Order: sequence, then C-alpha cells, then structure tokens
Amino acid sequence: MPEQRVYNFAPGPATLPEEVLQQATRDIINWQDLGMGVMEVSHRGKAFMACYQEAVQDLRDLMAIPDDYAVLFLQGGAIGQNAAIPMNLMSLAKNGPKADFVVTGIWTEKSVKEAAKYGQAHIAATSQANGFTDIPARSTWQLSDDAAYVHICSNETVGGVEFQDIPKVNQPLVADVSSNILSRVWDIQQFGVLFGGAQKNIGPAGLGITIVRKDLLGHAMPITPMVWDWTKQAENDSMLNTPPTFGVYLAGAVFKWLKRQGGVAAMEKINIQKATMLYDCIDQSTLYTSKVAPTCRSRMNVTFYLKDESLNERFVEEAAKRGLANLKGHKSVGGMRASIYNAMPLAGVEALVHFMKEFERGV
Ligand SMILES: *Cc1c(COP(=O)(O)O)cnc(C)c1O
Repeated sequence: MPEQRVYNFAPGPATLPEEVLQQATRDIINWQDLGMGVMEVSHRGKAFMACYQEAVQDLRDLMAIPDDYAVLFLQGGAIGQNAAIPMNLMSLAKNGPKADFVVTGIWTEKSVKEAAKYGQAHIAATSQANGFTDIPARSTWQLSDDAAYVHICSNETVGGVEFQDIPKVNQPLVADVSSNILSRVWDIQQFGVLFGGAQKNIGPAGLGITIVRKDLLGHAMPITPMVWDWTKQAENDSMLNTPPTFGVYLAGAVFKWLKRQGGVAAMEKINIQKATMLYDCIDQSTLYTSKVAPTCRSRMNVTFYLKDESLNERFVEEAAKRGLANLKGHKSVGGMRASIYNAMPLAGVEALVHFMKEFERGV
C-alpha cells in the first residue's frame, strides 16, 4: 500500500472507495479461496456467474429498477453507446430514423455527432450560445413529433451542469448518466434508457452500463454490431462475448459498498452536503467564481474559476502539496474542477474548502 492516498478530484477515471480497493487487492491474487484471482477465472464459471448476477441485482436494488427494464453490462463505454443508441432505437421513428437532442455541453455534442451517422439528429434545444452554463428551459424545447427518442445528458461532466429534475417528454427519454448515476434518487420509469461509462461514479473504465425498458428492444438496425445489439445481449446475460470481468467484479463491490453506506438516498444527502459546502465557499469568496447558473450546478463536478487567472498554476500546485490532486479544469473550458463523486469523502471536500480559504487569504 502507498504510504498515503491523496484526495483525488479527477473527473474520471476517478477515486474509488478505499475499502473496496483493499478487498480487490486480495481478490486479484486469490478470490473466494479458489487459489486464483478474480481476473483469472472463466466468465461462465459458477463463481463469476454468481458475482455477475449479484452485481445486476444489487444495482437493481440500489436504483429501484423495475422488472420491465433490462440491465446490460457492455464494453465500449458511453461513447460506444452513442452509436449503439441510434442503432437500437432510431428505427422506432415513424418517418425514417430520427432522434431529438438537448445539447448542454460537450458530451451531448458528441452524442449528436455520432447519432447523425445513423439518422437525423435534430437539436431540439441547446445552451451553446451561453457557453453551456445552463440548461435550456423545458418550455423552449422544439421537440419533433416523429423522433424515436429524446437524448439528454443528466450531468455534463466538463461544464458542471446537471439536470435537477428529470424532464417530462412524450418520446422515450434517453439519458447519458455516466457522471451522476447512483448519486441521487431517480424514478427510473421516467426514462426509456439510461446509459453510462463506469469510471466516474462506479468502477474501472472499460465497463459500460445500459438500462433499457424492455418494450424498446427488438428494433436494432441490421448493421448493429452483435456486441451492441441490446436485444441479443439482454437474451444472453450480456455475455455474447467475454464481458469485462474485472470491471463487473469491481462495480459489484462498489454496489455492496453503497448498500453499506445506506444506499442512494443516503449518498444523495452527503452529496448535497459536499456540493453545498463547496459552492458556498465559492459564492462567499472574492477570488473564486462559478459560471454555471445556480439552478443547474452539478453536485458531482464543481467547476470554478480564479478571478485572477495568473494564479491558476500556483493554486493547482499548492493544492497538490496538500494532497488535493487533479483540480485543473478540462482544457476546453479552463479554470478548476473538483469532481466529488460518491467515493469522495466529506473530509476530502472539507480539506479542499479549508485550502481554498487559506489560499485566498494568502494572495
Ligand atoms: C466520461 C463521459 C463519457 C465518455 O465515457 P467513455 O467511457 O470514455 O466512453 C460520456 N458521457 C459523459 C457524460 C461522461 O462523463
């Protein structure tokens, strides 16, 4: 073990619960007394199949996923699903393949670009004009009657913009939940599809999770790669090919950890506490500022700027010296970003706020 772990505010791959990592270091060598590590056993063997089924069930319990939704563990991350979604769903549109998009940042921009390869990607609303610092009001969305679905990103990881309520639409709602899955309580029935990569709020990169209402299955375009055909994967326990076994194992361990913390509602309470503490610090300061509209501020990715940008480097360096790592913002937006997913303890945010106040006093 390293002498000391730092508070890692990276956006993803991101910090994981230490007790889960400690368990994993043992299980990598010898899992369940098999004399073999978890990465070395057959995905179809008894031990791994049980681990897989438990991970699915624990996720169902945590998110209260109804039985009429399939839970898929897929490879290719969220970006892969940007292609899989139109291929699996766009044929549902009545006048040729088409979907609506609400663009709130670079992740939805990427989704639009990818979907446009398979059909019409109609932008129903966008906050591009103000630099993606808010979410267009629901009343302004120009939704189509003939779209197969409406695509949103529930939390834009780069800009730090998050839907506080799940919008109501007539078409099935498809949400990229990569960076705020399991951070807050949702009514799953408001969604047609939820999808995301695991490396923000769940586990290691390489695992993607897609939760899809079963009545939307069965419409994949013939060109759909087999491994991204949701219907075929749903019929085969997501095992049409060898699944990312270590990713599934670790996600399962995180799900168990979440259950021990009291589940998603308990995490949401702590997440509100952490985010409030940080935004209060920003709002009360004369050095720091947030560009995101207060009603759209992300609880997971807190973006902020130093009013004197010449201090950026010093801020990041001095923070790192105090064990506060990876605070630099995404290169496309600059500034700072503190990603405070479920696995970031309250103490980490307290330490960050303490440092920010101290830094401000010192300049
Ligand atoms: C990180 C991220 C992605 C990309 O995930 P990959 O696993 O790299 O494909 C997509 N959408 C959002 C919202 C993200 O935060």
